[in-house]
Amino acid sequence: MQLLKDKIRNEGKVKDGNVLKVDSFLNHQMDIKFFNEIGKEFKRRFEGEEITKILTIESSGIGIACIVAQYFDVPVVFAKKSKTSNIAGDVYTHKVQSFTHNRIFDIIVAKDFLNPEDKILVIDDFLAKGSALQGLIGLIQDAGATLVGAGIVIEKGFQGGGELIRNMGVRVESLAIVDGMTEKEGCIFRN
Ligand code: 5GP
Repeated sequence: MQLLKDKIRNEGKVKDGNVLKVDSFLNHQMDIKFFNEIGKEFKRRFEGEEITKILTIESSGIGIACIVAQYFDVPVVFAKKSKTSNIAGDVYTHKVQSFTHNRIFDIIVAKDFLNPEDKILVIDDFLAKGSALQGLIGLIQDAGATLVGAGIVIEKGFQGGGELIRNMGVRVESLAIVDGMTEKEGCIFRN
């Protein structure tokens, strides 16, 4: 998606630890006009697929998922990050390794909101090593729901998550794939 690549080039900042900061339009201030373009693009890519629900993870995924959901006319469920290890039985839960905070946390979704009849599109802002996506896929599997695919805004292709998840047979659509990045030269995009 050319518009996204241009925004990353112009506004993105590469930080230590292979973190790309896109706070001016995606992760802190949110460019809603641009989010609408993301929504249209995911709708185009997943055209013809039956989707009943969008699943994302708090917090950065929520804003994007809400705008995208308007194009699919479906509800959004977000997995909550739980600090308590003692979780009641009416939730599905998985462990996720946080890329940005370097710790493990539980993600939870109430069983009421994921059902075997659901056909789910996962939406997230970044795909790095794939732990967040694996956790979300785990929740979908536990619910007996169908995973249609994952729509990712920025995939860091050099961190292996995309390969890992695609090798599981999951359709992953990333709007920009970064194959390398340096503080000085910025991002190198795949094609
Ligand atoms: P993964 O679980 O694939 O290793 O990492 C994905 C999650 O970590 C995303 O939900 C995102 O919030 C966060 N993340 C990973 N890499 C980056 C990055 O370079 N920049 C930002 N802003 N978030 C990232």
